[in-house]
Amino acid sequence: MVLDYGGVLTKPVSSSAWPEADGIAPESFSAVLKAWLSHSSPEGAPIHRLETGDLSIQEFEVFLDDAEPNVADAQGVESARDRTTVHDPSRRSRSMTEQRVAIVTGAARGIGAGIARRLAQDGLAVAVLDLDESASNLVAEEIVSDGGRAIGIGADVSDEQAVADAVARVVAELGPPTVLINNAGIIRDNLLFKMTTDDWDAVMNVHLRGAFLMTRAVQAHMTQAKWGRIVSLSSTSALGNRGQANYAAAKAGMQGFTKTLAIELGKYGITANAVAPGFIETEMTQATARRVGVSFEDLKESAAKVIAVARTGRPEDIAHAASFFVSEGAGFVSGQVLYVAGGPQG
Ligand code: NAP
Repeated sequence: MVLDYGGVLTKPVSSSAWPEADGIAPESFSAVLKAWLSHSSPEGAPIHRLETGDLSIQEFEVFLDDAEPNVADAQGVESARDRTTVHDPSRRSRSMTEQRVAIVTGAARGIGAGIARRLAQDGLAVAVLDLDESASNLVAEEIVSDGGRAIGIGADVSDEQAVADAVARVVAELGPPTVLINNAGIIRDNLLFKMTTDDWDAVMNVHLRGAFLMTRAVQAHMTQAKWGRIVSLSSTSALGNRGQANYAAAKAGMQGFTKTLAIELGKYGITANAVAPGFIETEMTQATARRVGVSFEDLKESAAKVIAVARTGRPEDIAHAASFFVSEGAGFVSGQVLYVAGGPQG
């Protein structure tokens, strides 16, 4: 018996690792297989209906619930299929019964909040992590009121104990996290000769130490699940930017970190990629406008003049790229840096 798995992996079912990788309990496996086979084409070729989006997760769960007691009874599977009515193509189909759990750092506002909202729309449970727990809660509550599953967590990503506590809370309240978005960031801009040691250390601590601590804590759950997605926020500033020696070094560091994670963790089904935004309309760029003494509108207008698509970016633009890297289908894309800047960069 050969099963075409997502158009990529074709293996004899008996020697395939996919039930485990997809979180399908061994006792449910034969029922699931029968369910799929009962949807075979007239020529008898098995069709993987979950991967092609013809079967929603809800339908799949109905199969499991109804067919499990009748593992040895093909008729039981058939009747379960007859009873399935729900089909929601807007939900991403996945071959597992459990919802993926994501942690997004710096998610109380800006790009992080945009990514948290997007991942929730994609069907993931989301831990909205930021320094201020009450601000994190606001984003989490919004996701929940839109029908998603989320919690707010207050933690400083550069504090080792706070990171350990935060990840433990996510495991307890949402489940083991297998998606991590290293987004928390700060700027402490100044020309090199005026940059203080504190400005240098603060930026390194949040971006690099923070991403390191978060990733080291979360990878344990990813390797156990044999699946994971790590997306870290770099920046076009990684290519060099006046007044940002600290930030540019940190954002270039995120790229080296990402490529190394990809090499080390790939064999566990974990991908690591970086998104490098250009000018995005958030509090961070508003702070830049204040620092250089121009209005935000003027700063956006002058920035847009040198952007190929003639506009500045929005958090949703970055969320879209992150959503792709996190998606089930992006498992063969790893160690990449995607510049999302409205034009060619890098
Ligand atoms: P933002 O609006 O300033 O949001 C950053 C969030 O991170 C804030 O809520 C901030 O909390 C939080 N944060 C800061 N330090 C933290 C820490 N130690 N632990 C946990 N959370 C922390 O920034 P953004 O524009 O959305 O940027 C998000 C990411 O994209 C950053 O990594 C940034 O470098 C990168 N990026 C942004 C742009 C852009 O144009 N906006 C371009 C390229 C890259 P507080 O408010 O409490 O400090």
